[in-house]
Amino acid sequence: MHDTVTFHHPEPKPATTRIWPVFLPFAGCPYRCVFCAQDKQTGQMETELGAMLESMNRELAEAAEQGKGPYELAFYGGTFTALPAPWAMRFLEAATHFRNIGLITRVRCSTRPDCIDEKTIHTLRKAGLDMIELGVQSFDDAVLQASGRGYSGETARKGCELVKAGNMALGIQLLPGLPGDREGVFQEDAHIAATLKPEIARVYPCQVIDGTPLATMWRRGDFTPWELERTKEELAEALLTFWGHHVRVIRLGLPPEPALSEHVLAGPQHPALGQSARALALQSIIRSQLDCLGGAPGYMEVPRRYQGELFGNAGELKASYAAMGITRQSIRYVETERFLLRKEH
Ligand code: SF4
Repeated sequence: MHDTVTFHHPEPKPATTRIWPVFLPFAGCPYRCVFCAQDKQTGQMETELGAMLESMNRELAEAAEQGKGPYELAFYGGTFTALPAPWAMRFLEAATHFRNIGLITRVRCSTRPDCIDEKTIHTLRKAGLDMIELGVQSFDDAVLQASGRGYSGETARKGCELVKAGNMALGIQLLPGLPGDREGVFQEDAHIAATLKPEIARVYPCQVIDGTPLATMWRRGDFTPWELERTKEELAEALLTFWGHHVRVIRLGLPPEPALSEHVLAGPQHPALGQSARALALQSIIRSQLDCLGGAPGYMEVPRRYQGELFGNAGELKASYAAMGITRQSIRYVETERFLLRKEH
């Protein structure tokens, strides 16, 4: 046991380049997945690809003229690697133009794990694609089957390995709480994802959005999404797994867009979901450090950048911290990156 314990937050440092998202709702998707409502998520309807390319070029040219940037260009909302030829190349050629004038520094896309192969990765890499975010959703065969994803856990795993072998950065998107979910599946998915060492992960707990096949299943009573409290706890545990493998988690839950919220019928929706999960994860780290201290700390130093999330959303963790012997009065916020706990005598 020690009188004083110091430690650092295990979360990897955030990226500094801002993302310029280009949404291509459902473009290239072989079919619509049971849970997916990209049109409602992005507030954009399926449009013709030529019109999308034109508006991307126009908006990026305006940004360049105004001296904005640099940005990382991201093609989201569809299955980029399965766009009908030659659209992926056209978008990447346009991206190269803006890279050459210094507005864009990196290009990424999202796609499905069963829509990539060695040749496609090689071709897109040469055309300027730097990163692929794979919408894996789960590595569990039963979940993938019940959710109609049309590929196996092995395909998902191989897809991740192919991206890395093709000298591209990898991102993994998980969607916990899908049909076929069972206790422990998401934590196993998080573990598999973390050990594949992606640069980033995103986690979108499953919500029931109106107009999707999942909404029909939910109305029939054939599907129940996760409760909010369970979601926070599951996400907190997964965060510790990802951070333990030096993986940044850049999104927890769908952004609370009013346009989307009005279409959400059920599921764990809260504007501060990410903050709550991060706060719970931090509390778990502090709790394990208290074991080394062997008692309640009379004094605690917390890096200032965690001031806003220490007690969770609207002080939701105040009571559980008090039970650990930690109150607002025993805390000092400091400018360093180090946490310090000192025992009460
Ligand atoms: S989840 Fe992905 S692959 Fe499925 S419909 Fe939505 S964008 Fe397309």
